[in-house]
Formats: sequence, C-alpha cells, structure tokens
Amino acid sequence: MGNASTKARILTGDTPTGRLHLGHYVGSLENRLALQDEYDCYFLIANMHALTTRADRSQEIRADTIEIVKDWLSVGIDPERSTIVLQSEIPAISELSWYFAMLLPFNRVMRNPTLKTEIEAKGLGDTYSFGFPLYAVGQCADILVFRPELVPVGEDQVAHIEMTREVARRFNQIYCGVDPHAEDEEHERLGGLFPIPRALVGRVGRLVGTDGKHKMSKSLNNAIFLSDTPKQVKKKINSIYPGQSRNPDEPGDPDINPVFTYADAFIKDKEFVAELRRRYREGDNLGDGHVKAFVIEAIEELLGPIRQRRARLEGEEGDRRVLEIIREGARRANEIAEETLHLAKQRMGFDFGPRRLELP
Ligand code: ATP
Ligand code: MG
Repeated sequence: MGNASTKARILTGDTPTGRLHLGHYVGSLENRLALQDEYDCYFLIANMHALTTRADRSQEIRADTIEIVKDWLSVGIDPERSTIVLQSEIPAISELSWYFAMLLPFNRVMRNPTLKTEIEAKGLGDTYSFGFPLYAVGQCADILVFRPELVPVGEDQVAHIEMTREVARRFNQIYCGVDPHAEDEEHERLGGLFPIPRALVGRVGRLVGTDGKHKMSKSLNNAIFLSDTPKQVKKKINSIYPGQSRNPDEPGDPDINPVFTYADAFIKDKEFVAELRRRYREGDNLGDGHVKAFVIEAIEELLGPIRQRRARLEGEEGDRRVLEIIREGARRANEIAEETLHLAKQRMGFDFGPRRLELP
C-alpha cells in the first residue's frame, strides 16, 4: 500500500445537506482537529446519503459538497495530513453496504432511534424513500471500510455507531470464526477483519439550535453556520427566545434559557459564565441582551479566523483546489477501501481474483 501508516485510523464525516454549523464544531470538528496528528484520519462527505431527502436536487448536493470541504479547510483540517473522502467515489462502500444489509435484521434498522428522530424532525412522515433507512446500513460501510478505531461524532450518531459495532461483530463471528463471547478489543487478535470501533463524542454532544428545541441541524433552519457573517450571527443569537420573559432586575432561570447553552459552549472563561448564571438567577442587573452580547463576542472570536481562511478559498480558484483535494483523497481512500473489500470477500469465499480501480 502506497499510503501505509502504522497509526490507528479515524473515520468520521458530514452529510452535504448545507454548510457546517457550530454544532458540528463542538460535536465533532474540534476532536478531528485535535486528533489529526495522532491518527491516520479519514473524513467522509456522505453525498450519497444526502440523496435520502434531496434526490431531486443532486446539483445542490454537489455545491454543498464543495462548501463542506471549504468549511473543513477553513477550520484547519489539513488535506496533506488527513484524507478527504467523497463517498460516491469509493465503490467499495456500496458493495460492503450490500453485504452488511444482510447482517442486520430489518426491524433492528427501523428501531434505530436516530432514524426515528430524523423522520420526525424532518417531517418525513411515511413518505420517505426506501433509501432512507438504507443510509443507516450504508453508514456502517462508510465506517468499517476504513477499519477505524475511533469515530468522533455528536451524540445523535451514537445509535448509528452502535449498529456499526454490531455489524462488525457479526461479520467477524460469521466469516472470520471469532467466538461470539469474545471481548470487543479481542476481535482483531482472534482473526476478525474489523475492529469494533468506538464513538468519541465531542465536548458538547448535542448543541441546541436557535429554535431552543431541536438539535442544531443544517436542514432544520436553526443553525449558525461557520460561514455566517458577523451580522447574521448577531441576528440569529438575538432572535433566540430566552425561555422566559423578565427584566434585568428580576430573577430568571438560566437552565431553561438556550443562550446559556451557548455561553457554556463558547465562552472560554468558565468563572465568568458561572458569575453570569448567578446574576441571572438573582436578578442582579443582567438583561437577556447582555448575555446575548457576551455570547456573540465569544462566537465571533471563534469564527473570525475561520472566516479569514475561508475568504482565501472563495471563487472558481477555490473550487478548483477543492476538486483537486477530492480527487487526491479518492485515490488514497480507494487504496484502503479496496483492500478492505478484498479481504472481506476473501473471508466470505466471494473472492475470485484481484481487481484494479483506476482513477486518472
Ligand atoms: P442534517 O440536518 O442534514 O442531518 P446535521 O446538521 O445533523 O445535518 P450531519 O452531517 O448529520 O449534520 O452530522 C455531522 C456530524 O456532526 C455528526 O457527527 C453529528 O453527530 C454532528 N452534529 C450535528 N449536529 C450536531 C449538534 N447540534 N451538536 C453536536 N454535534 C452535532
Ligand atoms: Mg444529521
């Protein structure tokens, strides 16, 4: 393998359903940045999964794909150190999905709490496509094709990772002869092809959206995007309903005020936040506008440098750079993905000689 590395691997990613927001930052991006050197990192853009809700808008998905890569580069993901993976360029993922679909009981997939929440939050009713629940199976393949140790994600993804762990165990038991009672950590040593990967949930596992209700989400119209302008950030924070109506000198409850969630997540000085909470609780001359102003300042401190880096990627020149990164990433990712698929088929007795993938 040209890109052989002795480091343990990480896989995680985002769906190109819009640009990245503050929830991604505290839920997963921060961990990715911190682990870039220590691990061999693969960051996947799940463009095929974006089709679950936007099959009629594939061109938009293409545009969002480019935007997400720009978001990644602006926060500091380095395509030299980490591999950026576009899902639709990795055929082994689709093939593995098929095999994995056979290892999961249908009702098990449909009971997945993340799928249920998404169906509800996105108002999909019973009109969702066959591909919608299939994406949860596909995600097992997205992950396992890289045989990673860790998957840095937000809280909502933990149910998906649990399903991935089940698939990995089952594959190892059925096709690699691993004892069903073996400990997760022992699977590879006992001949299992797949490690049983662990979810690594970020500092804030579920950042609430500006609606104060649902998790901040690209597709729920409640997000503060990393690429928002200072004016947009200000407007969005100021639009948050603080959960109660009070004057600065009246006692309030910070725990039902979503703005305090942002204070916790983005104001670095924890003593200062504790003091804000106390003053809010006691009605010690602290209006909602004040709290919001401190939060806006903290968010600006984070987003300022990100915006500056992003500005350098604007326009066609930036798009070209992103497309190059996607192609280079696909080359690197396919090496390991093809290797995993080959090994999986070998274990299944479905291997009838090597094949070569060529990317010009
Ligand atoms: P969509 O609305 O299309 O589902 P999303 O905003 O949920 O978009 P995803 O691409 O599904 O974003 O998630 C990418 C990663 O970011 C996942 O690891 C997910 O757990 C994490 N994440 C998303 N939203 C939040 C949030 N509000 N707080 C913490 N982590 C989050
Ligand atoms: Mg999501």
